Amino acid sequence: MMNTTEELVNRILDGDRLALARAITVVENESPGHREIVKAAYRHSGRAYVVGVTGSPGTGKSTLTDGLIDAARNEGKKVGVIAVDPTSPFTGGAILGDRIRMQTRSIDPDVFIRSLATRGHLGGLSRATGATLHLLDAFGCDVIFIETVGTGQSEVEIMRYAHTVVVVAAPGMGDDVQAMKAGIMEIGDVFAVNKADREGAGRTALEIEYMLDMSPPGRGWRPPVVKTVAVSGEGIALLASKISEHAAYVRQSGEMQKHALQASEFDVSEVLAQAVVEPLIEKSKARGLWDDVISKVASRELDPYTAVDILIESRKTE
Ligand code: GDP
Repeated sequence: MMNTTEELVNRILDGDRLALARAITVVENESPGHREIVKAAYRHSGRAYVVGVTGSPGTGKSTLTDGLIDAARNEGKKVGVIAVDPTSPFTGGAILGDRIRMQTRSIDPDVFIRSLATRGHLGGLSRATGATLHLLDAFGCDVIFIETVGTGQSEVEIMRYAHTVVVVAAPGMGDDVQAMKAGIMEIGDVFAVNKADREGAGRTALEIEYMLDMSPPGRGWRPPVVKTVAVSGEGIALLASKISEHAAYVRQSGEMQKHALQASEFDVSEVLAQAVVEPLIEKSKARGLWDDVISKVASRELDPYTAVDILIESRKTE
């Protein structure tokens, strides 16, 4: 019998965009067969260089990523882009921006752009992102950009897939450096102060430099801060070269291997949660046990540890 999953994955390996698009839809929705697709594609992935681009909405991530796509295409690289929009369950925002970009990019067979939106279930977003990443990798992308707004927990987690994280800031966005401190500051390998045509860009860049001075040493890489004007392309070449420098550092310093282990650990943990934790929650909910236990924890009749013992114990009486 013909194995259709294998056939689909073979088509992806041959560079078939339609097959890739279809496979991503299956893994994104976790539709039947999604595991088989990832299983078949996984050993063909692990070659792409992954660049995360993160920052508040409106800082210019999409415009900047577009410029970085051009820079990569000029080097003859095949490019994948995953735009993650965790805020919209129906992909409203992401799809809109995506469509505009898709139109201008649709003539280039070596650029594949895909939006992903959050799904209802736990960990769905990071899992879909990981699976999509592996598919783009198997498709033969040399570089994959993952673009996220960098606010939620799952988004910071997604950045674990990135070899280089570019944090995008812009002057006067209420998204000043103090606010950035909270989560994404520490994960930046390269900082872009976009909208450098606007007032205050110099100050924002200095504030970031100052924060980097304050952060504990110990890394062999001091993140550079690059001013860009994404709409005109100013500074994009410099930003691209800083990303390449960081990539060279990652390769030379042994971080590449460390990174591969980290990303794999994340993949396995995600799938383990899906296989063990999520079904337990689902089943407990179906039996009404979940609500009961949660309300007892709220009223202090139970503590969370005892609650979990009860949930785990309940599996034995299935
Ligand atoms: P994202 O939400 O971070 O992806 O931001 P977008 O790339 O969608 O950009 C948000 C808005 O800022 C758009 O209207 C862009 O045209 C504009 N923009 C992007 N880069 C620049 C820039 O360097 N200077 C100025 N003045 N506007 C920019």
